[in-house]
Amino acid sequence: MGVFRTLLNVLPMRTMTLGAVEITRIVEWHAPAAAPITEIFPDSTPRMWRENESWLAPDFWDPGTDRLGVAVQTWLLRNEGRTILVDTGLGNDKERPDRPVWSRLRGDFLERLAAVGVRPEDVDVVVNTHLHADHVGWNTRLVAGEWVPTFPNATYLVPRADFEHWARPEAAAGPAGAAFADSVLPVRRAGQAVLWDGSDGEYRIDGSLALAPAPGHTPGSSVLRLASGTDRAVFVGDLVHSPLQFAEPDCDTCLSEDQVEATRSRRRILEEAADTRSLIFPAHLPGHGAAEVRRDGDKFALSRWAPFASI
Ligand SMILES: [Zn+2]
Repeated sequence: MGVFRTLLNVLPMRTMTLGAVEITRIVEWHAPAAAPITEIFPDSTPRMWRENESWLAPDFWDPGTDRLGVAVQTWLLRNEGRTILVDTGLGNDKERPDRPVWSRLRGDFLERLAAVGVRPEDVDVVVNTHLHADHVGWNTRLVAGEWVPTFPNATYLVPRADFEHWARPEAAAGPAGAAFADSVLPVRRAGQAVLWDGSDGEYRIDGSLALAPAPGHTPGSSVLRLASGTDRAVFVGDLVHSPLQFAEPDCDTCLSEDQVEATRSRRRILEEAADTRSLIFPAHLPGHGAAEVRRDGDKFALSRWAPFASI
């Protein structure tokens, strides 16, 4: 037992517990972004990055190459006996003509899930915070030439506003149109999708977890709030792409459909997170993956990183 405990202590930490909810980080992809940071964050200035270099470099920004560090990861939650995945990454075998590095991947995501004791049939709930290609990929997998739901027993929670946005015929040829066709529609056809909207303010998953709208990055972008015991967290999808956005919350990315609305949502959710001391889990942060912030004038400052091993 003593040896076992020692081994546990030296293994890189990838699971933490908040209240009764166990949270495990499953990293599918980790690489520098292809574009320079000022292209990804058009409103950011070189000075903003330099001023925050001491805590952003090297995990979140490489000053030498001027590239953003990006992870694509799934947050695996276990609560009330159920297994929940928050966002499903890139997926394998997908054709992504606009993003060749994400095309026809042969990654080991399912093996990484298996390594923490999760088989596809064990997943009860899949949350897509929004319907961009890097959040729905493992919704489906290719079996005998057909896209089928990867998680046969899961209910997939899909924001209705995003579903309707990408169901428009003219959206098929645009960004994320291919992902909608190969990763969202097959789940819908299989009868496993629940299209939720925010008309009641939230969509409750269980006693600790509830989805809420946070539009702007996409029309249906959403956050997942966790409240268990005295612990709080919020899974924010792509509301935050870099911790620079704590210090500069008005900086949005070129990836958003509506940058003004995305910024309004980010400020609202970060204010709430700071006031409730919620741990913030973005989809794409490398490093320790999640952080708590406090108010700093009309901006935010880092209070602490999550205890996950840094990548
Ligand atoms: Zn994303």
